[in-house]
Amino acid sequence: MSDNQDMTLTIPENSLLLDGAWRAAADGQQLPVLDPAAQAPFHVAARAQAADVDAAVAAGQRAFADWSRRSPSERGAILGRWAQLIYANVEDLARLEAQDVGKPLNDARRNIYIAASILEYFAGAADKLVGATLPARENDHFGFTLRQPLGVCALIIAWNVPAVLMMADAAPALAAGNAVVLKPSEFAPMSPLGIAALAKEAGLPDGLLNVLPGFGNEVGVPLTSHPGISHISFVGSTTTGRAIMRSAAEHLTPVKLELGGKSPNIVFADADLELAVETIVESITENSGQNCYAGSRLLIEQPVYDEVVERVAARMREQRMGAWHEDLDLGPLINQGQYDRVTGYLDIARAEGARLVAGGLDGAPDGLYVAPTLYDRVTPDMRIAREEVFGPVVAAESFTNAAEAVERVNSSPYGLLVAVWTNDLSRAVTVSREVVSGQVSVNEFANAFIIGFPFNLAKESGFSKGGGYEALKEFTREKAVTMALRADI
Ligand code: NAD
Repeated sequence: MSDNQDMTLTIPENSLLLDGAWRAAADGQQLPVLDPAAQAPFHVAARAQAADVDAAVAAGQRAFADWSRRSPSERGAILGRWAQLIYANVEDLARLEAQDVGKPLNDARRNIYIAASILEYFAGAADKLVGATLPARENDHFGFTLRQPLGVCALIIAWNVPAVLMMADAAPALAAGNAVVLKPSEFAPMSPLGIAALAKEAGLPDGLLNVLPGFGNEVGVPLTSHPGISHISFVGSTTTGRAIMRSAAEHLTPVKLELGGKSPNIVFADADLELAVETIVESITENSGQNCYAGSRLLIEQPVYDEVVERVAARMREQRMGAWHEDLDLGPLINQGQYDRVTGYLDIARAEGARLVAGGLDGAPDGLYVAPTLYDRVTPDMRIAREEVFGPVVAAESFTNAAEAVERVNSSPYGLLVAVWTNDLSRAVTVSREVVSGQVSVNEFANAFIIGFPFNLAKESGFSKGGGYEALKEFTREKAVTMALRADI
């Protein structure tokens, strides 16, 4: 069934990766993996179950005993070799991710490069993680801290950018000396499996990175409630994030949550409109709007409102849609469920009285495609302005001054990213200070060229220290050691 014959990197059918070996699921269940453009399976993975979770956690614990005691520079060297292998296999990995998610090949290629560069960053950081020596009240006491790995970490990720999401957590977890059990989404397990296959070649010991494709209730629940798990990193929807916290409460397992978003582009009248319009359209068409940070809200200052709406709509109409291998501007949505969700929001927006300016289903090819869509005459209370659509749909509102724009932004339940478009430096800084969000972009949108920045979040978008050096700390415990000194010199 797999049409991967011309690839050098092959993922065996009906397999998960456990203790360094490809295996069927314990009860032999299978997971068909769909190509969203063809709406047909192109691979069959294993469909892991609770018994596989138990085996993976046990394998992780065995591997952790050795890995956690290796020198940080040895760990870094192995991770560095793994990163080089990912670069060397970028075409095969990009193809796996593109066909799995439905995104254009070039976007998938960029995602694989980002995943490799995240790993490179943490390979280099592995031996830079330090503790502290502490001042004592009396000279006959001495204190220092040790940064130590936690154990077996559970990583549960969404389907939209699987390679990047995998690496954003697996790289710091492994660099800090932990073992990992990764549950990719049931909808997109391929690039994580491909990347994990290369880890063995790089010399990563067996059992350190186990990959269990499968469903939330069959793999995610047993994993997050498992007593052998020392940390949970979750990337997915806010609704599932709440369920994960409840599950983690059972064993008081620490949790990091990276959840949904409703990120606004705020356009002031003095902005470079040409650059703003181009980037705003990219911010919602990349991955067909199926990104946590997608620029799905557009706040435009009154004097340029009509002009910006018209220009964004015109640029949207130029976007070309097609299958991953056609490598156009955007692909289909990932599956029927996602298509129903997004088209459901088109109905909601119409019923709420928003005006359709561009897109919808008009001009979209047959299949799971939704054209880049712009609504205007949106008010802040409408669901289309507040809820995450996770599709190529933008809701435009006008505002009259910076204070009003900030108030509108901060009324959102989410706090992931805010982009500010202005050439007034003071206003850029003031708005950056006032908005409640993990990140702000000024005259750009979520610049992926910056590596190592903290990926912080606010409100219902979750909480995280991922992204930079701080992520290493997330995967360690700082142990305080104190000593009573007896000897006088
Ligand atoms: P989802 O919450 O449906 O699923 C995410 C993962 O959780 C999947 O692997 C799924 O199998 C698993 N899961 C589902 N129920 C579970 C449970 N009860 N226990 C344990 N695991 C469970 O989300 P999705 O549809 O895969 O992804 C889309 C969402 O992810 C969007 O809301 C998007 O904003 C968010 N996302 C956030 C970020 C970020 O960094 N903030 C990045 C990417 C995607």
